[in-house]
Amino acid sequence: MASDSGVAGEVTELLQQLIRNRCVNDGTAESGGEIASVDVLTTYLEGSGLELERYEPLPGRSSLVARIEGTNPDAPTLMLMGHTDVVPVNPDGWLHDPFGGELIDDEVWGRGAIDMLNLTASMAVATRHLADGGFRPEGTLIYLAVADEEALGTHGAAHLTEHERDAVAADFVITESGGIPIPTASGVKLPVLVAEKGTYWCTLRIRGTPGHASQPLRTDNALVKAAEVVRRIAAYRPETQIHDVWRSFVESMEFPPEMAAPCLSTEGFVEMCEALPMIGLARQAHACTHTTFAPTIMHGGVKLNVIPDLVDLQLDIRTLPGQTGADVRAMLDDALGDLASSVELVADNDDPSTASPTDTPLWDCLQRVAGKLYEGAKTVPFMTVGATDARFFRRLGATAYGFGLFSDHIGFDDYSSMFHGDNERVDIESLRLSTELWELAARDMLST
Ligand SMILES: [Zn+2]
Repeated sequence: MASDSGVAGEVTELLQQLIRNRCVNDGTAESGGEIASVDVLTTYLEGSGLELERYEPLPGRSSLVARIEGTNPDAPTLMLMGHTDVVPVNPDGWLHDPFGGELIDDEVWGRGAIDMLNLTASMAVATRHLADGGFRPEGTLIYLAVADEEALGTHGAAHLTEHERDAVAADFVITESGGIPIPTASGVKLPVLVAEKGTYWCTLRIRGTPGHASQPLRTDNALVKAAEVVRRIAAYRPETQIHDVWRSFVESMEFPPEMAAPCLSTEGFVEMCEALPMIGLARQAHACTHTTFAPTIMHGGVKLNVIPDLVDLQLDIRTLPGQTGADVRAMLDDALGDLASSVELVADNDDPSTASPTDTPLWDCLQRVAGKLYEGAKTVPFMTVGATDARFFRRLGATAYGFGLFSDHIGFDDYSSMFHGDNERVDIESLRLSTELWELAARDMLST
């Protein structure tokens, strides 16, 4: 095995290459271009005895599977999965080139540095090192560099789990993100993402009556009605839900009672989030315990001097464990009140919340391994408020967690603001820690 600095150098260089490839996914089928990073990863992994296989449902939208076949077909399979696409950037807010992959003061800068090219790179380096070292596990190890995570996984994880089941079937899956150290009075806690919220994306159509805009009195203006719809949705306060994942997160954080009690009480929860000075933490705590409604796009009107008769309003709604589309529609009715009957739901996409249990061999493995790399740290279950590719594998029956390891160089609030935000970067120590984590976890889970 290479020395520590060797590993850090290797993963840093690979991450820089992935950032420079600009695999920007803007949601269109033609974007992404993940083939560039699959080429880089293929070159990196070749010649180590790994079985490599590429999948390309559309030109340029490639995913790569690398595999070390286990000696015992009955032993469990572990998959390390990282996505290769990134979200778009607006370079105006950046201090350095978002696709430069520059190394500045021991930090690698660029889009994807924490979401999640850092982990995609460190998983590849760990896999290569295991293969180079002649790793012959009982269970199978799979590394998957997957396309299209940032746009619902259609050309990536959704495609592979539907059409290439044998290539990606796994009992245990680790993907983004988690592992940001949270210092507490009882020691460092490392969140493992065991669950994620669901998405319910919909379009509301608001109708009016066209007319001449030079005489607006007593007209039926769809845009004016839509403004009131937006206002009511923004003002809507769905119930606080202290669900199992949140409860076990708060309990395993071992907060002092005066801190734990308000986190477990539906009474005053929103007020507590509104008063918290750490805004990133406040948003997370709120989103973890509430169905959220965010109006994001509105289209309406045809001409400056015509009273608009049609407005389409798009909402990004995120659901909690156990909630269905019917629950969301009831909440929308509640939010809109007497306007509900004049608003039509014209399209929706319901992708419910998923979760994996914590009484599993993978949970125990991550606790053991993370505790070794992070003296005395304890893993705690957490829920991500975004969506990850873990959901496709949970639905197939796999235990899937989001994890990684980060140094104490990046705080929780910094981390939240860099996710899809400006000035995304990661420190080398975090890259080294994650690489060690994957290597130790594979040895621990798959036994030789
Ligand atoms: Zn991601």
